[in-house]
Amino acid sequence: MIYLDAAATSPVRREVLEAMWPYLTGDFGNPSSHHAVGESAARGLADARAAVAEWLGCRPSEVTFTSGGTEADNLAVKGIALANPRGRHLVTTPIEHEAVLESVDHLVRLHGFEATIVPVGRDGLVDPAAFAAALRPDTTLASVMLANNEVGTVQPIAALSAIAHEHGIPFHSDAVQAAGWLPLDVRTLGVDALSVSGHKLGAPKGVGALYVKGRIPLEPVIHGGGQERGRRSGTENVAGAVALATAARLSASGLEERATAAAAARDAFVAAVLAEAPGASLTGHPTSRLPGTASFVFPGINGEAVLLELERRGVVSSSGSACAAGSEDASHVLLALGYPEDVARTAVRFSWGPEVTAEQLAAVAPAVGEAVRAVAGLGG
Ligand code: PLP
Repeated sequence: MIYLDAAATSPVRREVLEAMWPYLTGDFGNPSSHHAVGESAARGLADARAAVAEWLGCRPSEVTFTSGGTEADNLAVKGIALANPRGRHLVTTPIEHEAVLESVDHLVRLHGFEATIVPVGRDGLVDPAAFAAALRPDTTLASVMLANNEVGTVQPIAALSAIAHEHGIPFHSDAVQAAGWLPLDVRTLGVDALSVSGHKLGAPKGVGALYVKGRIPLEPVIHGGGQERGRRSGTENVAGAVALATAARLSASGLEERATAAAAARDAFVAAVLAEAPGASLTGHPTSRLPGTASFVFPGINGEAVLLELERRGVVSSSGSACAAGSEDASHVLLALGYPEDVARTAVRFSWGPEVTAEQLAAVAPAVGEAVRAVAGLGG
């Protein structure tokens, strides 16, 4: 079996599990406890925070651990927008993860916000001029993801955050899918807030982090005992934080070479799939895209049936985001890219981690051809 659904989740890396183990056993303490067991947990948490800060190029005090990407996005969108006295207007895109879109919707429905959703092109890119035109004197936050989870398009985040800053508007980016493939230095990206999640990177599900630049006010979303400097209450998931830090450290070493090699393998895979399935087309931007994602539409072919045929041939993939899988709705991302609903329903996304080799990928392309022909009733 070859697992090509890494955008949904990835297995925990052995080194990560080993780094977590002590904090689940001997050093199991509550970091707030004033005894030796608590203090060793607190040290583990502080070291993890320092490592995540190094990964993101920020100060440890700017890192808040969360229960994952969804919570990080909720905290960024609601927390920054509600604390910003500039007004009640938000700017985002139609291809964000539901964690951002539903947080925006919450602010619109319950807190009197207005939202401008900046359209994207067929390639999934946000046009900087359209983004600039959406900003208003009462805009409290702009949120644009670094890389899309369905089509893999990578946005020009540094350019967009610079535009937001010209207007004095804080800028958040969801980097959940970019983590492990792209450098996440917040100074280079120019962002004020950035969300990451452990389980796309070789850490377990249920841990993530939000970077928020020091001077940006943040209203907490989860209230309680005041952990995480009051930004996120709840007894800290020390083992999870250590896992995220370890996965981040592993992913940062040799990142550039790994990403370059993966991009070459991806391009060969895309070309082979298009040759195998002549009616297919790649979705997302042809070059500004994640090295580990290739998503296609197969007009006239039932995408769900292709997935089943692929699984029979030992290839595990997905129709799009794991959240949308199994739902009746066509992907909101593909609809926003301008695909008609019937075409959007034919999508198949292949996504993989750095452990997948070019040879393994190359072997998948003929299986895609066979699966498509089988569904089309032309053979296989
Ligand atoms: N943002 C993006 C772009 C994602 O792909 C995901 C997960 O699929 C999330 C946020 C949510 O992260 P989590 O699963 O850790 O809540």
